[in-house]
Amino acid sequence: MNPQEAKDWIKSIASDDIQEPKNFEEQALKFIGKDLYESFFKGYTKKQWGCEPSSLPASILKRLPIRFNYDDNYFSHKYQGMPRDGYTYLVQNILSHENIAIKLTTKFDALLKNEFDHIIWTGKLDEWFDYKKGHLGYRTLDFIKFEAEGDFQGTAVMNYGNEEVPFTRISEHKHFTPWEEHHRTIYFKEYSRACTEKDIPYYPIRLVDDKKILDEYIKLARDERGVTFAGRLATYRYMDMDVTIREALDLSKKMLKDIVQGKLIESFYHQEGIS
Ligand SMILES: Cc1cc2nc3c(=O)[nH]c(=O)nc-3n(C[C@H](O)[C@H](O)[C@H](O)COP(=O)(O)OP(=O)(O)OC[C@H]3O[C@@H](n4cnc5c(N)ncnc54)[C@H](O)[C@@H]3O)c2cc1C
Repeated sequence: MNPQEAKDWIKSIASDDIQEPKNFEEQALKFIGKDLYESFFKGYTKKQWGCEPSSLPASILKRLPIRFNYDDNYFSHKYQGMPRDGYTYLVQNILSHENIAIKLTTKFDALLKNEFDHIIWTGKLDEWFDYKKGHLGYRTLDFIKFEAEGDFQGTAVMNYGNEEVPFTRISEHKHFTPWEEHHRTIYFKEYSRACTEKDIPYYPIRLVDDKKILDEYIKLARDERGVTFAGRLATYRYMDMDVTIREALDLSKKMLKDIVQGKLIESFYHQEGIS
């Protein structure tokens, strides 16, 4: 099919009996019809979010690209890339400064609050407030590591859309850096599940109940002094790297300006985080 034929075909298989889609499933059916929805979205979405696609908001579907060309990238950005030597090396270089002291494997404790003039909090928003308004929902991931000779799957990421396969995708990291040569390979199977307090939180769920609790925490965050909430956990949003880095740079610029002008660093909740 050429692009126009493909568009016409999708239109012909899309459900035309749904006027106002009320959830993810209805939006998908209206958009691409039952067969494509079940092949690509239904199983994957159930595994990723641990709930029926009919209980997720229609807006999630808008994040997923559907194209009529041979561009198989997930993102549509004009420029896409990875730091040449990886993020670890990049962050190591940022941190190797005489004014920066690092304590690893140290969980931040509320008792430490008074030891600092100002804190930038990148942990969970509800954790900062000791969960007093309830728990915000997160999904966590289990990564199971495998090794093999040569090339395992020929691409960086392969998604598994069907429900019978328990993992959501396999990432084979050497394909992210095609400029390096490796005879062996490492790949990870990714399993999504509900996040408990012991797990690392990855994705904010943002169902209706979460939004209600979130509003209450945002109110508290606005009144909090001596702390700035930044990043995906502290603002409870799904954020990509480029957005995270942009916001961190903007935030640091604003803070440095306040310091140079002799202003007290105001305790503000990063505005962008509220949307
Ligand atoms: C599986 C997966 C794949 C992704 N793929 C992409 C991709 O392809 N492209 C892309 O652009 N983005 C991707 N992202 C998103 C990207 O990882 C995030 O945007 C980015 O890491 C957010 O940075 P952050 O600093 O806000 O949060 P984080 O990187 O989570 O940093 C928060 C830090 O706070 C620390 N912390 C939390 N609580 C405490 C505490 N109580 N005490 C002390 N320390 C604490 C944590 O240990 C962590 O180091 C992906 C995310 C996931 C989970």
